Amino acid sequence: MLETDTGIILKSMPFKERDQILTVLSPVYGKYGLLAAGTAKLTSRNASSVLPLTKGEFSFDLKDGKTLFKLRQARTLVLYRNMHEDLPLSCTGEMMAGLMEYMVPVEMESEGALEQYALLHDALTLLNNMKTEEQILTLSAVYMAELLKLFGMGLETECCAVCGKTVVSAFSVEQGGFVCEEHLGTLKKMDTVQLKRMRWINHAGLAHITEISAEKEDVKCLEEVLVRHAGVNRRIFSLYNRINRID
Ligand SMILES: [Zn+2]
Repeated sequence: MLETDTGIILKSMPFKERDQILTVLSPVYGKYGLLAAGTAKLTSRNASSVLPLTKGEFSFDLKDGKTLFKLRQARTLVLYRNMHEDLPLSCTGEMMAGLMEYMVPVEMESEGALEQYALLHDALTLLNNMKTEEQILTLSAVYMAELLKLFGMGLETECCAVCGKTVVSAFSVEQGGFVCEEHLGTLKKMDTVQLKRMRWINHAGLAHITEISAEKEDVKCLEEVLVRHAGVNRRIFSLYNRINRID
């Protein structure tokens, strides 16, 4: 059956000599693969329509029980041109798509596909119009907090994640949220300004990112939570961290 679907290309991998395998995230089907024959050749008609980190419309042969399909036609709907032309922005987009790619299972019509797609779609739309490092850091932090929520690993920023006490002293990567003085363990106390920022980041959602501001240390905390609790490979952050001088 010939199907036409809209999605975001998360990545592309060379396959054989002239082909590519695209990984697409769609609001309907979730994550699946498309074999784009001949697109590795620059003269291919479809070559410019299969760029990673673009939103497109794809026609392919849908087959039951499969997750990889033969691409018939591709058309770019949104190029996110500013993002692709700017190094800090494109590194951020790649990091965000890389996280989504890692978290979403390959499975047709997987649960939560619409929300996962909406998060990445809205984040790329915002990113495409960003100019300052502060905006990029804030978007990155909120995106990571929302991603953790979508996969049932949301941060605890209301009270101590261990005992529920509402007077808190630090953010613990290990506990995935705030801890009180009693449950600090080897952690140092954090100042209340950073704790407040972490709470805002966790509550804001992408709709309110212009009202808050994240710092490098907040982004670092969220990266560490993703590595520790979701098993994300640190390599996903390496170029992003280098460009934004996060260590
Ligand atoms: Zn406690």
